[in-house]
Amino acid sequence: MDDTQRTLIEKAERAHRLSEEELASLLADDAAEEAMAAAADRVRRAFVGDEVHLRGLIEFSSYCRQNCMYCGLRRDNEKAQRYRLTPEEIVALAEKAKAAGYPTVVMQSGEDVWFTAERLAAIVREVKALGLTVTLSVGERTREEYRALREAGADRFLLRIETTDQALYERLDPGMSYENRVRCLADLKSLGYEVGTGCLVGLPGQSVASLARDVLFFQSIDADMVGIGPLVPNGDTPLGDVPAGDMRLVRRVAAAIRLLLPEANIPATTAMETLLPGARELMLRSGANVMMPNVTEGEARQKYALYPGKACVADTPAHCRACMEGRIQAMGRTVGQGAGGRRRAL
Ligand code: SAH
Ligand code: SF4
Repeated sequence: MDDTQRTLIEKAERAHRLSEEELASLLADDAAEEAMAAAADRVRRAFVGDEVHLRGLIEFSSYCRQNCMYCGLRRDNEKAQRYRLTPEEIVALAEKAKAAGYPTVVMQSGEDVWFTAERLAAIVREVKALGLTVTLSVGERTREEYRALREAGADRFLLRIETTDQALYERLDPGMSYENRVRCLADLKSLGYEVGTGCLVGLPGQSVASLARDVLFFQSIDADMVGIGPLVPNGDTPLGDVPAGDMRLVRRVAAAIRLLLPEANIPATTAMETLLPGARELMLRSGANVMMPNVTEGEARQKYALYPGKACVADTPAHCRACMEGRIQAMGRTVGQGAGGRRRAL
């Protein structure tokens, strides 16, 4: 790494600002990786501390009306195994998550039309009554639907922008519009949700300049959470034959996100672990401060197949919780107490 790169990393660590060109030059540089990760780790510690927050992930339906080219749940994938948990089953999983010590649950699904805002709102009310923080990740909805869910008590929402390259987005997510995705994020923010977004790394045709613009986009919308992950090719999708996302690039993008959004919650995601065993620890040392262990049980856990080789697919929720806690403590970090929401220091 040359001195220019070193100076850029110092600037990012101090001022949390970089231009698109500066960011792209760091993202393009394998040699900058360790220094970026070390700087991101210091920023993580200074702004969000040593706690690692655990979110219990409930994957409650594998039906989807969308057709994203990379995703195993896409509607044209005839090999996808579809399931839909009942509201009672979802609430029961939330109860178990609470009993296992998770303060937050993330309820995620394909864009399943059975779950109208009304049905979802009723589930959210029950889960909120357990005293849990509720994050939804159910895709694109109207402002009115987002409002109803917020009024039912949903606290947070995860909706990745996937890529800020509009042409690439519309090619890979046929039938979806980039403009509507951005509208969703703006609506969620203005309705008072903590908003999580993020991107996929390794999309065909994606450049480092485009990834740099993704990071600047997260900063511009003041994202509260940013979850990124490598593309993991799924053989049952049109992108089955493309190379997997480069984990070294993923690590630089994650570090860049911590440097530019020092207060954000950043998960070490399962897709990373799928490509690189040990990736979660590596990412927790490179800027990340959140993990989202799966609390879905039984067959549903296997059937929710966005991509193949999902890590820990055979584990039970209780085993996951214990395993995560052990890993976190072994790193000299602590399991987060409380809801672990966005902190504001700047
Ligand atoms: N339907 C909702 C939530 C479920 S999909 C939505 O799309 O927002 C959650 C995330 O899985 C997506 O945002 C996408 O980034 C990721 N994903 C889908 N297919 C993937 C693949 N093949 N590799 C890695 N991540 C994938
Ligand atoms: Fe559906 Fe989400 Fe998969 Fe797209 S990424 S096909 S919206 S589950």
